Amino acid sequence: MLVSALNPEALFRARADSGELIRRRAVGAYLGFAVGDALGATVEFLTPREIQAQYRVHQDMIGGGWLRLRRGQVTDDTEMSLALGRSVLDAGAVDAQAAAAAFSDWMRTKPVDIGNTVRRGIAHFRQSGTTAMPENDYDAGNGACMRCLPVALVLLGADAEHVDRANRVQAHITHHNILSDAGTLCVIRMVQAAILGTDKAGLRLLADTLVADHRSFNFERKRVENPSAYIVDTLKVVFQALFATDSFESALIEAVNRGGDADTTGAILGMIAGAFYGPAAIPARWSRHLERRIKQEAVNQAHALLALSPFVLSGQVK
Ligand code: MN
Ligand code: MN
Repeated sequence: MLVSALNPEALFRARADSGELIRRRAVGAYLGFAVGDALGATVEFLTPREIQAQYRVHQDMIGGGWLRLRRGQVTDDTEMSLALGRSVLDAGAVDAQAAAAAFSDWMRTKPVDIGNTVRRGIAHFRQSGTTAMPENDYDAGNGACMRCLPVALVLLGADAEHVDRANRVQAHITHHNILSDAGTLCVIRMVQAAILGTDKAGLRLLADTLVADHRSFNFERKRVENPSAYIVDTLKVVFQALFATDSFESALIEAVNRGGDADTTGAILGMIAGAFYGPAAIPARWSRHLERRIKQEAVNQAHALLALSPFVLSGQVK
């Protein structure tokens, strides 16, 4: 079964790494995530050919795009993660009611962008008060995956079953789908393993385990361009870019230049690569353009969520 297979002991055991290093990697995940969102948003829904014609290679934080963003402005991916993180910190756990209310509050702020499945799920919560959508074969978009980072951080050190349960709580508010659940759990485990200091082979093992259980995620055969918001397309680009490169910068450039849902491929890759390579690997020419308010809350949440994690509470890290 996927869940137990995704718990290869070696990847999640406490290492000799200092608490300081682990906290830095958690911050790297959150900043890398926001940077990937803002960088990718410029070319969201463009094809690789259109990107090439316009920028040759898109590699600067310039805003714009179909949402006409300010330089460094993030989109729904980062905003929903921050909303989920706030709800986790308020409730002290991943709580369906608190998370749904936080998403509803966020939708009230007239966000710059919002996905259809997300809007439908939040409307369903407002009308019915229920916090889980019925299971649906078609809700396999990446909207639950793109906001999973707070779950990864607050449950660092938890076993895979616990992580899986908590993730379903947040995910099913809008997306109740087996591929979304499996892909998102894999991303969470990759972020956690990276924070705990795994090597590339460890990340690869987690991706391969997902593919073994759900063949549609097989990312080896064909280079994916212009990825849709389908979780399978999204994660194929994320995995291809992660494993074909050897730095945060080259991975992000590789992913966003494939266009399509580029803010979300950038964001998801950014959280894994930001944890793996650490915050010092995030180019300052990108991160300095993030809004101060966003950067501040991302860093604060990384620390506060980690402080609530089993890994920290069990005293495995100082
Ligand atoms: Mn977005
Ligand atoms: Mn997107």
